[in-house]
Amino acid sequence: MFFWREEVRPGLHVAFTSAAAGNLALSVGGDPEAALHSRRALEASLGVLPGSLRFMNQTHSSVVADVGPAAAAPADAAPATVAPAADAMVSADGSVPLAVLVADCVPVVLADRRGRATAVVHAGRQGTLDGIAGRTVLRLRQQGVTEIDAWIGPSVCGECYEVPASMRDEVSAVVPSARATTRHGTPSLDLRAAVAGQLDELGVDVLSRDCALSESSCTLENRRLFSHRREPGAGRFAGLVWRA
Ligand SMILES: [Zn+2]
Repeated sequence: MFFWREEVRPGLHVAFTSAAAGNLALSVGGDPEAALHSRRALEASLGVLPGSLRFMNQTHSSVVADVGPAAAAPADAAPATVAPAADAMVSADGSVPLAVLVADCVPVVLADRRGRATAVVHAGRQGTLDGIAGRTVLRLRQQGVTEIDAWIGPSVCGECYEVPASMRDEVSAVVPSARATTRHGTPSLDLRAAVAGQLDELGVDVLSRDCALSESSCTLENRRLFSHRREPGAGRFAGLVWRA
């Protein structure tokens, strides 16, 4: 069910699901009931209350949402009404289990090293251009968080993410570390390197660039992960942070 899962500090957990956890996006795959079922099974595995895991309606925006305690979401609320329209979420007291959904884009988990705040970020090409990861760091800083750790999950790698030369130029003009070349020598983008660079610049400690073990953490190459480029509409996996 998990590509990577760890209690990174006492009581603080970070995980990235694999395709074995099922498709977790209600808007992808054509079977929202199955996605809801997968979400409930995931919550049981995390040891969090049913319906407490907070998802976003992700739109490649640069919106960072603050989410309140889990009790603020009525148990009978439809998932879509509970999910903020955003591409990053911050739980100031860390009490809300957070999820970000991806299938090639970069999932990022952030956590206050000394306090309780947690956050998740969805950084695709547009989000990276708009600095969504940096915006989330600034939101945490506004809330008094000084030291932040980051975990970057599986995404399409720079050797696979081929783009037109003009697009590579557009992105790397703003984020130079995004500039890459595929293994075939054609223009590409390395969004993980770009996001890691943006976090580095803000003094965030990136503890795991890709949470890689002995296998590839490239979504396009590793069939244990969902990839929009390899199989559009097949599903989304999740980056997760929760306290327990
Ligand atoms: Zn790759």
